[in-house]
This record gives sequence, C-alpha cells and structure tokens, in this order.
Amino acid sequence: MLKIENLHVHVAGKEILKGLCLQVNAGEVHAIMGPNGAGKSTLGNVLAGREGYEVSAGTVTFEGRDLLMLQPEERAAAGVFLAFQYPVEIPGVNNTYFLRAALNAQRKARGEPELDSMQFLKRVREKLKVLDLPDALLHRGVNEGFSGGEKKRNEIFQMALLEPRLAILDETDSGLDIDALRQVAAGVNAQRTPERAFIVITHYQRLLDHIRPDQVHVLADGRITASGGVELAVKLEAEGYAGMPQEAQA
Ligand code: ADP
Ligand code: MG
Ligand code: MG
Repeated sequence: MLKIENLHVHVAGKEILKGLCLQVNAGEVHAIMGPNGAGKSTLGNVLAGREGYEVSAGTVTFEGRDLLMLQPEERAAAGVFLAFQYPVEIPGVNNTYFLRAALNAQRKARGEPELDSMQFLKRVREKLKVLDLPDALLHRGVNEGFSGGEKKRNEIFQMALLEPRLAILDETDSGLDIDALRQVAAGVNAQRTPERAFIVITHYQRLLDHIRPDQVHVLADGRITASGGVELAVKLEAEGYAGMPQEAQA
C-alpha cells in the first residue's frame, strides 16, 4: 500500500529525514517509536502533504500512485488520514458542521455525491456506537474546551467517519489517562480491517499494550534504525533509545 524509499526532507532549511525507508501493506499496523526530535511528526506531516516540508530526495508510492505529486486534499480523497499530535481548536465552528464538511469535501474529490444532513446523521450515529463519545461534543465548537482525552477521541471519531485507507496517528496517546487510552485504542482496533493500514507514532510502549502492531520501527536521527515485532517495543521500554544502534539498517 505504502512504499517510502530513501526519503529526505528539509524543514526550515534543516535536513530532518535522512534517507527513511518504510513499507506498509494493507491490513497492517506499524508502530513508529523514537526519541523526541527524531522526525516522527515530520514523517506524518510530509505524508499528509502539509506545507513547509520540502522533499529533497526519495519517493513515496501510495497504492501505486506518486503520493508526493498529490495536493493535501487529493491525498485525503485517496484515503490518507493524519491525526495531529496537537489537535487544533476552531472555536465557533460547530463540530458536526466541520465533520460533515470534511466528509463531503472528501466525497466530492472522489466524485461521490455529498451526503445530506439525514444521511450524515445516520452515518454519525453508526460511528458513535464505535466510540464512547458524548453527543454533546458534536454540538460544541471543534475541540473547543475539549479535554485532552476528548480531543483524541474526537479525532478517532473523525477517522471513523472518513474511513481512510491509511491512518496515521501521531502520539494520539500523549497526555491520556489509562481509561482514555483504552477508549482510543478500542476505537482504533474497531476500525482495523484487511483493507486499512495504520501508522501509529508513539513515544511510549504503553499504547502498544492495547493496539498490537504487526511491526515496530525505531526512528532515530531521520532514519529507521531498527525494525521488529512487539518485542522491540518491550526492549525499548526497558533499555531506552540510547541502547539502540545509531546506524540505519540495510
Ligand atoms: P518528533 O515528532 O520525532 O519529536 P519532529 O518531526 O516534530 O520530531 O521534529 C524533528 C525536528 O524538526 C526537530 O528538531 C524540530 O525542531 C524540527 N522541526 C519540526 N517542524 C519544524 C518547523 N515547522 N520549523 C522548524 N523546525 C521544525
Ligand atoms: Mg516530539
Ligand atoms: Mg512528534
């Protein structure tokens, strides 16, 4: 589904990703772990097509297409979803309105008919069952006054509505208490299908107790320096990143 080869990315004139390679197949969950400042969020942002991330070398192929040639909204239409490490608040913009606009923008870009409010509400009710999200959150401003846990659950809800092919979750676990973490993990697990892939970026092994990844990768200094199974995450938790190899593996 996703093939990243020798990706080099500059941010504000500084090289952050330095030859990153990663391959993700449909149905798989890949965890990316690594120290602060390693370039984990940069990877998510460059895949989503955010501004300010300059690709200086390498290729990214998504379902056979050159992802880097697509505009951010074309990537969203193709099914790439990024949940931000720091969700934005949009005071005064009703959350339901926002979610419907996001869904209809995606449908429009795909040449699908927009959903009217009845169809949209039906979809919302289906997805609400997946997550333990209070109805009231739908009627407030986007993330306005939401707790950290509510923002993260709202993102998982947004993901459920958009039904992405590739979902990238950037530290969706950060700042969550154990109950909120379980709810977020349950929301992700409920959305695992053979057609959908996840890249779960996390600083701690904790989340991986609840979301079992197929592969774990260490991103350090702009490259994947180690890949393995869940045992790699357990080893990292015990030994820290300092004990990991500093050179990229072939
Ligand atoms: P991580 O998510 O692994 O903690 P980031 O990808 O956020 O790391 O950041 C990697 C490096 O890139 C850091 O040194 C950070 O300061 C720098 N960086 C990221 N985004 C920007 C930006 N918009 N402007 C300047 N520097 C940035
Ligand atoms: Mg960070
Ligand atoms: Mg980050």
